Amino acid sequence: MNERVGFIGLGIMGRSMAANLLKAGFALTVWNRTAERATDLVAAGARLASNPTALAAECGTIISCVSDTLDVRQVLLGEQGVIHGAQAGSLVIDCSTISPQGAREIGQALAAHKLHFLDAPISGGSEGAKHGTLSIMVGGDAEHVARAMPYLQAMGKTITHVGASGAGQTVKLANQILVVGTMQAMSEALVFAEASGIDLNTMLAAVSGGAAGSWTLSNRGPQCVAHDWRPGFTIDLQQKDLRLVLEAADQVGAPMLITSQIFQLYRALQQSGLGHEGNHALIKAVARLAGREW
Ligand code: NAP
Repeated sequence: MNERVGFIGLGIMGRSMAANLLKAGFALTVWNRTAERATDLVAAGARLASNPTALAAECGTIISCVSDTLDVRQVLLGEQGVIHGAQAGSLVIDCSTISPQGAREIGQALAAHKLHFLDAPISGGSEGAKHGTLSIMVGGDAEHVARAMPYLQAMGKTITHVGASGAGQTVKLANQILVVGTMQAMSEALVFAEASGIDLNTMLAAVSGGAAGSWTLSNRGPQCVAHDWRPGFTIDLQQKDLRLVLEAADQVGAPMLITSQIFQLYRALQQSGLGHEGNHALIKAVARLAGREW
């Protein structure tokens, strides 16, 4: 089996993850729909493939990190997809956040071509991708997880085999329920403190190390105070994740009280043209409900 690793999707997350694979010493081939985004990696030693089929033909392990379920289907199973180039026995690892059912179906389609598949969605934000400290939730067979481990360890720190195919995506959706609930709580706390005349940096310093501390508060709280809306994770992708949560929760009958309301707040922000901003711009929607501008 070819030792070379292929990476598809060099967005905010994928670019840093691919760079960490190179740093760890793996021979790397990359492909991105918008080719310019590969320039830095090619300068650092990666090979550029002309499409996912060509990439798969020279790699025994293929990692994808694109946007949504249909995008993963396109790069893996589409006309110029991985499935048409990969040798039997190759391992495909998808790090995108997509629907658990979609992941299972993609795994089955690849298996029919003798290709192995893991769903391995990630958490830890753009910072985690950059520093190689991502949490990675993996669904699939244990023997393939063991085979994937050196690559996953080059990109992440907490790698957990959470169950069979699709389980990685289900755990990632649980992660997103936790993330947006925390983001909403942070937004309400900041709007409340500002309306009460409190200095917000002082407030963050006072509470971040206590029981209310969290990754979101430490990383996105200061950005909210500084009105820095650059995305580590865009509102459009966050909204996509909440759609996936609500669909999957509907299938198992789990009520989503807070998550469904936050879904509507993000929808309102998208409709105001803010889909490209960071997901912490949720605070703008919360502030508007309080009759304030943020
Ligand atoms: P991003 O910056 O928007 O990048 C998306 C990437 O997917 C780009 O390389 C884009 O190519 C590619 N892509 C999208 N649709 C495609 C298609 N149909 N065919 C080929 N390529 C396609 O997104 P990101 O923030 O890196 O997120 C990537 C995935 O990781 C998403 O599933 C997201 O939910 C998940 N995630 C993100 C974060 C985060 O904090 N950012 C954290 C955890 C998980 P172009 O360059 O041509 O547009």
